[in-house]
Amino acid sequence: MSFAKNDTAESLRETAGGILEQYRSHFATQRGKLLAIEHEAVFTLVPNAVPLKARLDLVSAEQNNLVVTDLKTSKCRWSENKTQESLTQLVIYSFAVAGMARELGLRRIIPRFVILTKGKKPAIQVVEPRATQDDVIRLKEFVSETHDAICKQVFVRRESWACGQCPYAKRCLRTT
Ligand code: SF4
Repeated sequence: MSFAKNDTAESLRETAGGILEQYRSHFATQRGKLLAIEHEAVFTLVPNAVPLKARLDLVSAEQNNLVVTDLKTSKCRWSENKTQESLTQLVIYSFAVAGMARELGLRRIIPRFVILTKGKKPAIQVVEPRATQDDVIRLKEFVSETHDAICKQVFVRRESWACGQCPYAKRCLRTT
């Protein structure tokens, strides 16, 4: 077994304990009503494009609001830039729970990231980024353009860490 520099089995055990403690303390203070965990939603974002499927970590009701929480782990606290980079995911999630919010009579959807940091002193960071109308328009354009490209059989490889678990990797990357 190998460890990263400065890590030992004991130090990792301590970090894991610290992270779990932060997680437990944070959720012990939450007063909302839990509605769903690992909730799967299929919804149409753009007419004429295929539906999207989202799996949401946590959905809860807080007063008149529906809160959709995505849990993250990170080496350090998220910066403003990192939050902005990840905003699209929460915009998608907000659309995914729009029907649920309507059915439950909850007026506002609050997207939330809960970030557990894995440093020497694990901590929890809660961010509720606000999406603008431009963010929504950009996302819809992206989905629409991607769908059009697929229909025209235009395929541009986008190699990343995801290729490692991709079921299409053999054909896409021409690996044997
Ligand atoms: S292997 Fe999969 S994830 Fe990687 S570029 Fe091809 S389709 Fe995308």
